[in-house]
Amino acid sequence: MSDVFGLTSQIKIMSKKDTKQNETVSWELSPAPESKGHISLKPKYDLFINGKWVKPSGGKYFDSINPATEEKLAEIAYASEADVDKAVKAAREAYTNVWSKLSGRERGKYIFRIARLIQERAREFAVIETLDGGKAIRESRDVDVPLAANHFFYYAGWADKLEYAFPNRKVESLGVAGQIIPWNFPLLMAAWKIAPALACGNTVVLKPAETTSLTALKLAEIIEESGLPAGVVNIVTGYGDTGAAIVNHPDVNKVAFTGSTNVGKIIQRAVAGTNKKLTLELGGKSANIIFEDAPIDQAVEGIVNGIFFNQGHVCCAGSRLFVQEGVADEVIQKLKDRMDHLYIGDPMDKNTDIGAINSKEQFDTIRKYIKIGKAEGNEIYESNCPVPSKGYFCRPTLILDVAQSSTLVQEEIFGPVLTVQTFRTVDEVIQKANNTPYGLAAGVWTDKGSKIFNLTTKLRAGVVWANTYNRFDPVSPFGGYKESGFGREGGKHGLEAYLKI
Ligand code: ADP
Repeated sequence: MSDVFGLTSQIKIMSKKDTKQNETVSWELSPAPESKGHISLKPKYDLFINGKWVKPSGGKYFDSINPATEEKLAEIAYASEADVDKAVKAAREAYTNVWSKLSGRERGKYIFRIARLIQERAREFAVIETLDGGKAIRESRDVDVPLAANHFFYYAGWADKLEYAFPNRKVESLGVAGQIIPWNFPLLMAAWKIAPALACGNTVVLKPAETTSLTALKLAEIIEESGLPAGVVNIVTGYGDTGAAIVNHPDVNKVAFTGSTNVGKIIQRAVAGTNKKLTLELGGKSANIIFEDAPIDQAVEGIVNGIFFNQGHVCCAGSRLFVQEGVADEVIQKLKDRMDHLYIGDPMDKNTDIGAINSKEQFDTIRKYIKIGKAEGNEIYESNCPVPSKGYFCRPTLILDVAQSSTLVQEEIFGPVLTVQTFRTVDEVIQKANNTPYGLAAGVWTDKGSKIFNLTTKLRAGVVWANTYNRFDPVSPFGGYKESGFGREGGKHGLEAYLKI
């Protein structure tokens, strides 16, 4: 166990209030670090183009950092416009000569093989995801990696059934798909993008985010191992200009982007007037709504899961809490108690609830928003759980009694910061929940099915969870309203984004 987290000599104490006896019950948890022994990382990663590892034409590399320790993990190739052009050419040739000629059944076999290989190397992927991105190993092991494999399995199943997905309609692949993904779910986002594209008969040029390229590059190793024909999937790494080179390349037929609303707008402008098909999955400011008749303890757990686990690095995070007045005091008190007992620290420890913020830049953004909250005069509650002195760690934070017009209610923070508002009536909360530029997700907690159905039809959000939060499944479509983007990923809907119908 690294000393950085100060856990070598120290044993964590976990405590919980026993409500019956009204006393604190404590128990000890020893450090439980996941082993790194079985992973292999090269000191330097090149670009994966046309089935080969090639050096970037400009000879430039950048560092990928472990945000929990600020240590360098590997050097990553910085792809130039010329490299992107090479990748698009390889994808075009593979599309024309090989992939578009294969039957759906054959395509499905390759996709299925990729899914199996991810499963076989699941532990390695989980560890690298955590080292590179900072998220708790529990999240990458139990959520990111299994879901990524499931996406490949699911779309492998669709590859030979496209005509059944769209009966009485003719479907055709689009050609070369340019795909750009963010840093919050690096492997899972790569799976969301690559699996449906391949199932529908397209070839791919994918760019991971600059701070989290490693699992996409490990996926390239699996793609090599799977025997997928050269050029069908190409992985180019780099910064925003590499992404822009993909978007602007004249021979790309489809652009799929997940990331910030600002960059989404730039991309939308760039493809306007071209024939490129576009899907955008952008920011969010999702409402988590607790009614008086909700199961309160489960709801509190759902709030924690919705915003604090994964450091709030989820575009659909339940970052705006609405509590009905009659239970507001109880919910807030229970939430504070729960927050105080969350573990923040070494992402590699299996007991850790909240890992590291993904980068210094994002850490500074979160701190900036908390400062704005203070300056606006809001009541702020930061959990008092201990945080490591090194690395980018942020305590779960509540912004209480905040106004609807507050910057913190309106803007995406992308960190473990939750605004709390109260409401009296159903109509009031619908109006408040919808009053944001975004519309990605929402959560509703109530005992009444009728209330759930009422809200699901009126909330302008792509996903509405009832009595749960942040649950994903390859079968369910995901996507936004308004400035959260358009197009759906996942499920049968996810096929439409990669087909001419
Ligand atoms: P975030 O704020 O979540 O980091 P960004 O939208 O900045 O999200 O980044 C998401 C992805 O978009 C990353 O892979 C990033 O390199 C890429 N990107 C950034 N700027 C551009 C751009 N102008 N064109 C295309 N891709 C871009």
